Amino acid sequence: MVARTGSVNRRLHRTGQSSGAACVWRFPADTVLYPAAIESLRRSVPLMNDSPFSAGVARIDITPPVGVDLTGGAFGPSRGVLHPLWAKAVVLRRPEASVLLVVCDLLGIDEQRSDDLRRAIAGATGLAFERIMLACTHTHGAPATVPLRNWGRVDPDYMSTLCDRLVRVAEDAVRAAAPARLAHGQIACPGVAINRCLGERGVVDDVLGVMRLDDATGRAMAVVISFACHPVNLHSAGVFTPDFPHFAERAIQAGLGLNIPVLFLSGAGGDLNPSNFTNQTPSEPNARQTGELIAAKALERLGEMRSVVPDRLSAAAMPIDLPLRPLPDAQTLRATAEEAGQRLETITDRSPTNWTYAGVKTRMEWALEALELVEQGGVPDRRTLILQGFALDDLAVVGIGGELFAEYGQAVRRSGVFEHIMIATQANASVGYLFSPEALAMERYEAVACPRYLGVDSFTGDCGSLVRDGAIALLRQLAG
Ligand SMILES: [Zn+2]
Repeated sequence: MVARTGSVNRRLHRTGQSSGAACVWRFPADTVLYPAAIESLRRSVPLMNDSPFSAGVARIDITPPVGVDLTGGAFGPSRGVLHPLWAKAVVLRRPEASVLLVVCDLLGIDEQRSDDLRRAIAGATGLAFERIMLACTHTHGAPATVPLRNWGRVDPDYMSTLCDRLVRVAEDAVRAAAPARLAHGQIACPGVAINRCLGERGVVDDVLGVMRLDDATGRAMAVVISFACHPVNLHSAGVFTPDFPHFAERAIQAGLGLNIPVLFLSGAGGDLNPSNFTNQTPSEPNARQTGELIAAKALERLGEMRSVVPDRLSAAAMPIDLPLRPLPDAQTLRATAEEAGQRLETITDRSPTNWTYAGVKTRMEWALEALELVEQGGVPDRRTLILQGFALDDLAVVGIGGELFAEYGQAVRRSGVFEHIMIATQANASVGYLFSPEALAMERYEAVACPRYLGVDSFTGDCGSLVRDGAIALLRQLAG
């Protein structure tokens, strides 16, 4: 039911020819500079000194070779490419600051790898490390780029290729920088997402954030949208795909009549899924529906937004400390490891797509690693997360390196520090869910099982509210 296609390394231009699959046109694995940006660059060179604000846009294909492990679940090695994965870069410049936003069609990147990539980009472009925001869309049709036990091996060759491509796309965006204008707004997009933790009782933050960069003549160069919802409609399809953001981008491009990049920021949707999502059943029509519903609202808002030359660009980062739950005692951990070990013996299907096997093996490995730490004298009682943000006039973008629950993201958006606040989760780190005390009390996957895939320790029930408070403090700093 899905296209099985060649890898980017084979540079196929037309793929998806397997029986029953729709044809998928692929771009070559080269950066595409947008005609509008190039045109504007040529046309506006003499204006450079007159315009205090400039922006540059570029994109590059980051689809790995088929066979590289998928992540975000027990999905095993990829079997094909349904849609290419992209990294898209936008540089924003004013005399007082420069900011680079890079958004990748990936699940997330852990802090160490993300730091390495940002450092490489900073070295190549001369931009300050702390002004580079590297965010992921959180698609579950992506290669392993964050270590998750038994949910895909991070391929060092792919990471090296990714680094080269991100450096290139950043350099291209910087090179394309030309006088620009900014427009932004928000619009309700109801019915698209549901709260998977608390159902009807749970918060759904259905406000879609929309930002557009125009060139000096008013022609759109790029659109950035932020929406709180897990990209999981094609979860477990076994193929590379950006999921519904792919369809949102295509529909926005079609609506504008411009082949410009649409950057999807994964809003605070840690506990939100598409309302048409059916567990374990990947659905291309459902992904299309989700993407097109979002695109329709984005287009509605885009049509009303008038661009201006922003008067102010500020950027800031803020570390916050998140307390960690104490580990169980040695006796409990030994018993957990033993119980999981015995259960593992009884499982005969040990394929990488057997969720039960991956889950039990993870519990055993986690207990053994935790036991070792407890026997060595314990674990830290807190972990630092660095929040990052930038603001242009009355619009702010906040980057958070984890999956913030909707109620906290909504509170940040409604804080009133800026007229319009867009959230990018999975930015510069991927520490797991930033949940509520209720999720912990209910022993939900996000609070109890997921941390064991990521590592050993886990946050306390106030992690979500601490991130909310930290993000609001960061916004105040940005507002100066
Ligand atoms: Zn998630």
